[in-house]
Amino acid sequence: MFLDIRNFAATNLPQGRKMDDIYMRDYLVDLLPWHYLLRERLGALEYIDELKFEENSRKQIAAYYFPPNTQQGEGVGRIEIYLQTKKGNFFRRHFWLDILHEIGHATYGGLSHRSRFQREWLTVWGGTPSVFDDLRISNSISSDEEEFAQTYALYVQDGVNLKDQHLIRYSFMRKNVFIGREYEPEETSASNVY
Ligand SMILES: [Zn+2]
Repeated sequence: MFLDIRNFAATNLPQGRKMDDIYMRDYLVDLLPWHYLLRERLGALEYIDELKFEENSRKQIAAYYFPPNTQQGEGVGRIEIYLQTKKGNFFRRHFWLDILHEIGHATYGGLSHRSRFQREWLTVWGGTPSVFDDLRISNSISSDEEEFAQTYALYVQDGVNLKDQHLIRYSFMRKNVFIGREYEPEETSASNVY
């Protein structure tokens, strides 16, 4: 597994522990399943120390996944993370959830090549927006890909609630993506990462 983590020492988030690229990389390598995340899908994860505002967004983070073979993708998939504000109450939980969400996008890119999984996910998703989603408040667009990315993030960070409210989604993730691995809340809460 190759993953180039860049610039996390600059995050300096309020109340956070000191973060650096090596810590972040080791944490992610340990935490996540990498069989759908070949380097082509996700080669780099970069924190960019600039404010980037999105119109109409109430979130504190702007995060983007650029698939391979796009201009910003540099030939391999990459994730860029920006803050939208450096003031006020910063929620590390949102920062961490957004990183996981973007990794979910990269994972879906690999998974959707396997049509059996994709067909099953389309059934599981069912075309309905999430009811549990309090964090993607700026994102009113519901799609199979967005719902997958958010379900992936919640599986890792908030598995207890996901299981409680969307058992079918939880089971899909456990079986197909995480290959049986489940996460204890204390293992993945933002305060453990940052
Ligand atoms: Zn998304």
